[in-house]
Amino acid sequence: MKKIAILGSTGSIGTQTLEVVQSNPDLQVIALAAGNRVEKMEAQIREFHPEVAGMWREEAARDLRERVADLDVKIVSGMEGLLEIATWPGSQVLVTAIVGMIGIRPTIAAIQAGKDIALANKETLVTAGHIIMPLAREYRVSILPVDSEHSAIFQSLNGEPADKIEKILLTASGGPFRGRTRGDLEHVQVEDALRHPNWAMGRKITIDSSTLVNKGLEVMEARWLFGVGLDRIQVLVHPQSILHSAVQFVDGAIMAQMGVPDMKLPIQYALFYPDRRPMTGERVDFFALGQMTFEQPDLETFQGLRLAYEAASLGGTMPTVYNAANERAVALFLDREISYLQIPELIAEAMAHHQVLQEAGVEDILAAEQETYEYIAGRISRK
Ligand code: NDP
Repeated sequence: MKKIAILGSTGSIGTQTLEVVQSNPDLQVIALAAGNRVEKMEAQIREFHPEVAGMWREEAARDLRERVADLDVKIVSGMEGLLEIATWPGSQVLVTAIVGMIGIRPTIAAIQAGKDIALANKETLVTAGHIIMPLAREYRVSILPVDSEHSAIFQSLNGEPADKIEKILLTASGGPFRGRTRGDLEHVQVEDALRHPNWAMGRKITIDSSTLVNKGLEVMEARWLFGVGLDRIQVLVHPQSILHSAVQFVDGAIMAQMGVPDMKLPIQYALFYPDRRPMTGERVDFFALGQMTFEQPDLETFQGLRLAYEAASLGGTMPTVYNAANERAVALFLDREISYLQIPELIAEAMAHHQVLQEAGVEDILAAEQETYEYIAGRISRK
């Protein structure tokens, strides 16, 4: 029996992880954490019987405690709760399916407690990859990618060392605005940006996919996960989303992982690695598909991707500023307070305003995040 804990169990990755658990009787969920969705958490507790569950706000935790008073489950809250769940005795793998940099501390604590990490929460690696990866080596725990592209790279590598990689080919669907110009994007509405052509995901990552900021975050994530330089990570726009990413090796051979877009495959692969388990579901029909196409990303229209390469090459606290500025800008866009094109504009401004600190510790990273939030709040209130 493999025992797992999930941070962000009520979200898109969290619920799909629970579906994987339902189809594999040798997986057991023993700890769950979520933000605010108490009803959904109650249902998950009744179905999966974890030993501990947490809500971010104490008020939500109190509500949950009353709802499940008939069950033997400990209810916790806040950062203390997340840390307790991340390090819960008996769990072997922590699935980090929470959104944002809030995942950094629990991920570090879980590594220090010897847990393997099934990592969906890319913001943790983007901002603190220089801390997380050496720590994982020190504690001999595995960081298993859940993001579909990184899982595809991981599957294609199949244990080969980083010095055999010539290039990583990171695919992108191109999102709903592929082929558009910047001018075309001036009047984009929230509903347009939330219409992803191939994947059903949480709201924030869906907007990030439309701006290609998600691909920028993935470039940074790949750099840390696979230990390759930025100049060896190439983004390929592949609208059919069948080839989930590939590795070009030093002898020119290219290994790729393909399949129908379904996050349950990378989730299951991470949970059972190195075993490959059967999974039901749709299969790629190459005859029906007909063709797979590839294009260069348009860095003029999608400034968010260009800025990601800039932030990554500046390093230190700059990826944190990129990530935090984007997070706030996306929230403002979803609240209809700023226009779509203001998302990359605000990221660029926040980056220009920031003094990079190299060798940043966790406190420095969190301070850079806070400074960026304040900068964006100031910029918006001055309007
Ligand atoms: P969702 O918005 O669907 O879910 C986020 C989850 O995190 C929810 O369970 C939410 O709880 C919880 N959460 C948010 N804030 C807190 C907090 N302070 N404390 C505890 N729990 C919290 O996001 P996704 O599942 O789409 O994405 C999760 C992560 O996975 C992101 O980093 C994303 O980039 C990455 N990812 C997602 C993919 C996808 O297909 N969705 C693909 C690849 C990567 P609640 O809703 O109860 O408030």
